[in-house]
Amino acid sequence: MPELPEVETVRRGLAQAMEGRLIKSVKVRRYDLRFPVPADFSDRLRGRRLMTLERRAKYLVCTFDDKTVMLAHLGMSGRMVIENRGHPNVPGQFVLKKGMHDAHEHIVFEIDNGTTIRFSDPRRFGMMLLTTTCEFSSHKLIRHLGPEPMEDTFTGPVLAARLKGKKTPIKSALLDQRVVAGVGNIYACEALYAARISPRRGAFTVQGERAARLASAVRTVLRRAIDAGGSSLRDHVAPSGELGYFQHSFSVYGREGWPCPGCDCERSVQRIVQAGRSTFLCTKRQR
Ligand SMILES: [Zn+2]
Repeated sequence: MPELPEVETVRRGLAQAMEGRLIKSVKVRRYDLRFPVPADFSDRLRGRRLMTLERRAKYLVCTFDDKTVMLAHLGMSGRMVIENRGHPNVPGQFVLKKGMHDAHEHIVFEIDNGTTIRFSDPRRFGMMLLTTTCEFSSHKLIRHLGPEPMEDTFTGPVLAARLKGKKTPIKSALLDQRVVAGVGNIYACEALYAARISPRRGAFTVQGERAARLASAVRTVLRRAIDAGGSSLRDHVAPSGELGYFQHSFSVYGREGWPCPGCDCERSVQRIVQAGRSTFLCTKRQR
């Protein structure tokens, strides 16, 4: 499942290939994604120029010259492959893959310079919907989203206000998209470890200095992952043509039984289960 840093890396790769370009054609091979692809999807995008390709939480937000907005989500298994057939090995281009295509490629965009962008998604939990710039912020998938964790406006006081009165454990609260947008299981674990806060602590007790520490840790772990993704993209991912999936080095996530890297506790990283999902922690460091 792509987390926010992966989506941001995909966004950067796609923006480089698509921003400012005209959409020559859109082929929809399957309409039955997580939400049905609109029947007029191709017609509305054909001939449009993509002005900006941004991200909100884990959604890609593509704004076209007629104020149409395409809202895309990679779901559990979605991938974007950029194929630059006419221009192999162009420096600075992200991707380059010879004409492979598979049964899971549901939507294919062809842009005016001959590049194709293929959305493939074996499990079909991904989606591509259309809205407009006017309706975007009130869209049912967007309107309840909390603050963007990467923005400077995501501060201790902002987070504290969202956690006030919440009786759930702080780990679960971080996964709540209304508290903060786009933080998934991996980065919730990593941020709590970095902030030395126990994932079991009641969310409402994370106030003041503790909330400031957590807000800053969330930003830092995401920023580091995005930087790492950017470098692994340049180094390893381009030849395969796939964007956005790469190995990170985590402090605690997936490291049950390994030495705790950040303190002198001489214990191992532990795994507990909260709300059906694994949480990794150091019980000495995190209080
Ligand atoms: Zn420790």
